Amino acid sequence: MLDKSHLMKINDKSQYKNYLPNLKRYETMSYNRCGRSGVLLPSISLGLWHNFGNYDIQANAEAILRTAFDNGITHFDLANNYGPPYGSAETNFGILYNKNFKAYRDELFIASKAGYDMWEGPYGNYGSRKHLMASIDQSLQRLNLDYVDLFYHHRPDPETPLEETAIALRDIVQQGKALYIGISNYQNNQIEEITPLLRDMKVPFIIDQARYSMLDRKIETEILPSLINNNLGAIAFSPLAQGMLTDKYIDGIPTNSRAAKNKTYLDTQTVQEKLPVIKKLNEIAEQRGQKLHQMAISWLLNQKGITSVLVGASSPNQLIDNLKSLNHLEFTNKELDLIDKLTNQFK
Ligand code: NDP
Repeated sequence: MLDKSHLMKINDKSQYKNYLPNLKRYETMSYNRCGRSGVLLPSISLGLWHNFGNYDIQANAEAILRTAFDNGITHFDLANNYGPPYGSAETNFGILYNKNFKAYRDELFIASKAGYDMWEGPYGNYGSRKHLMASIDQSLQRLNLDYVDLFYHHRPDPETPLEETAIALRDIVQQGKALYIGISNYQNNQIEEITPLLRDMKVPFIIDQARYSMLDRKIETEILPSLINNNLGAIAFSPLAQGMLTDKYIDGIPTNSRAAKNKTYLDTQTVQEKLPVIKKLNEIAEQRGQKLHQMAISWLLNQKGITSVLVGASSPNQLIDNLKSLNHLEFTNKELDLIDKLTNQFK
């Protein structure tokens, strides 16, 4: 009799039976071209900076990832030092990826980064070849992946020559460890300097990841126009200003919120300072029939040059709620003017 055992394994997802993704996952998400590259990114992507470390609940992390993929979020954003402790978000993602998503690898666009503090000593951060080459290998091991789709230099290095960083990024691609390259937190002059270096070496450099929200509009003046000019994609991180652009802080600081937790980058004083603007923005959102966080995402997706909005979520429900922003992307000129008047102080 013909031995068909090898054929039976083709597309056999039996070991992943505990998770079968939503068959309609591509029906509601929209995808935008990243600069002038071949890559399409979802309008909303998911970041794993918070809620995926060793002090977080793995079942919750798993539910957030499944909710994302079930709703067409194909792009997951990590970095070597996300956690805490450093590295643990990648390790946890690797475990959950193996359990849930391994059969769907080619439907996923997974990013990691290096450049911020990661390990002790002189090679544990910034932009040297030594740091970048070691970090990508560590990340791949933790993530349980052969390659990442996108590898970022996480922040500019004031001392390492940009040529050295650029050549290391090129070699990471040439070694098959990353498909595409990005940069993050670069100033405009640094973007203008590294772009031709990477382009001359034919590096698939496609994207800049920058902080951008209604409460931080600094990239509008120089960086966004320069990205558009250079045909680069832009992905906006902390689009909800770490949760401030929601209605959660309007009546005080909830105990489980990011601002209430220790060792986060959001403090209660910053929340208090921004509250008057937040309250007024909340009124505009209510008049639009949207939640403030939904309006914050819709507003970003209306900005020229923005490829994707990179949200965080501490629960699946938050993510589902954020995805509803896609149902109401249009703004009247009056709404845009009101938002501009309130927030152009953050440019
Ligand atoms: P956001 O501005 O989207 O903040 C996310 C937080 O806001 C959540 O963790 C949650 O906090 C709160 N939140 C989200 N949705 C809702 C909702 N519907 N209702 C109420 N509260 C909500 O983004 P992050 O600051 O988390 O950044 C997103 C990603 O960007 C990161 O994961 C990372 O990948 C990337 N990033 C990159 C950086 C870089 O240097 N390149 C720097 C920072 C981030 P809670 O419930 O805990 O209060």
